[in-house]
Amino acid sequence: MTPLTDTTASFLNSPGRRSAFLENVVGTCPEGIIANDNEGNIFLFNASAQRIFGYAPEEAIGKISASQLYPPGGAREVKEYLYSEEYGGRGHLVDFETEIVRKDGTRVPIRLCCAVLKENTHEIGMIGFFTDISGRRALQERFLESEERFRGIFESARDAIISVGESGKVVMANRAAQELLGYGEENLSGMEAIRLFPPRFAAYWKELSVYTSGLGPGNERRNIEILILSKSGAEIPVQLTLAEKIVRGQKIRTAILRDISDRKALEEELRLQSITDPLTRLYNRRHFLALAAKEVERSCRNRIPFSVLMVDVDHFKQYNDAFGHLEGDKVLVALGEQIRINFRTMDTGFRYGGEEFLVLLPETSSAGAMVPAERLRIRFSEVPFRPHPDEQPRRVTLSIGIAEFRSGISVDDLVRAADQAMYAAKNAGRDRTVDHEHLVARSEGQ
Ligand code: GH3
Ligand code: MG
Ligand code: MG
Repeated sequence: MTPLTDTTASFLNSPGRRSAFLENVVGTCPEGIIANDNEGNIFLFNASAQRIFGYAPEEAIGKISASQLYPPGGAREVKEYLYSEEYGGRGHLVDFETEIVRKDGTRVPIRLCCAVLKENTHEIGMIGFFTDISGRRALQERFLESEERFRGIFESARDAIISVGESGKVVMANRAAQELLGYGEENLSGMEAIRLFPPRFAAYWKELSVYTSGLGPGNERRNIEILILSKSGAEIPVQLTLAEKIVRGQKIRTAILRDISDRKALEEELRLQSITDPLTRLYNRRHFLALAAKEVERSCRNRIPFSVLMVDVDHFKQYNDAFGHLEGDKVLVALGEQIRINFRTMDTGFRYGGEEFLVLLPETSSAGAMVPAERLRIRFSEVPFRPHPDEQPRRVTLSIGIAEFRSGISVDDLVRAADQAMYAAKNAGRDRTVDHEHLVARSEGQ
């Protein structure tokens, strides 16, 4: 041990200096210190006690009883705890939170440590150390209030909100998320976020994480349209906004999901409308051009032929003139129906113009197309039409032209070839099918 300094030695040897020092400690202590005798008479009341209780030391010392510093029953409660084992053992009370009453009558939450004072073995009173915790309380209350407000918004939001921690597990999901995903009361928290995506899109989540990382201010990724998986396995289209935040050192990703199934259904409905002929419910010319372009590409790539049929109603003008446009429309509807039922599922029928129809037959040569073309022609000619209920049913015939795609020609060329073949059928007397190949062979033979 190092030798004692003069200051230390004089302190230890001089009771006067010691008591002056202790008085200094009590005076500058940030906690309120109050000591009272067994009758409750206060004999020590420091400056911090004055700040907390509002009494000057001379107003408190010898003037008021310690029990006056508490609300009714408060002093008794402190005493009971002091003598119990619960808070720091018998004769001690540690970190007990209660309220005191200030001189002006207001109440202040405090934390109290106190101990029984003894002289020799006699109890002569008690000493208490008081810390004003009103600031902390207010902060706590503000925190609870803002937490409650946040909860309110979080839970009542119409959009699903899901937060995912660094482990990839859901840490928080609001009611809308539970409902959207069909989890009801069962909590989503703790679930692997990856399970919320259809298995074939499992990479989605990882990709999205990469997107959000290092996106700069806000770290936000807006309005990505994706599919998520409900508990029952249904795929739900949603619009997703993803944000990333570091919360206490942990990367938290929060996804806001808006159910867009209604919009998607409407979009699909509109898309179908834009490519469908309303009268016959067959696809229209626009869709033919799109599908034919794909077929050309496929045929060139795989060297597999495909063919188209041009189907035209014979003497349709006469039919319209004789029975009216509405009766004519019935013929077109019936033709649409026959086209639907007389071809393979991979073939597609289109209403190309007024009374002209096209059929696209993938992976089919013109010779192969002749079979279903003839089937259509014959079946359609057997359909009875009754423009006048009391007259004999009418039969309507078709002229059909077939053209096979050859590499190097355009879709327009292909349609033109089918049209030529169809006109050849008209010229040969109608109600027949002509393959463009035979026209070419014939003209070359001449
Ligand atoms: P052809 O045997 O030579 O084909 O004789 P056609 O009378 O059928 O002659 P064309 O093909 O030129 O006639 C087309 C007729 O189809 C004219 C038009 O009145 C009719 N038409 C076109 N679109 C519609 C439609 O949407 N509804 C009805 N009812 N008739 C239509
Ligand atoms: Mg025509
Ligand atoms: Mg016609």
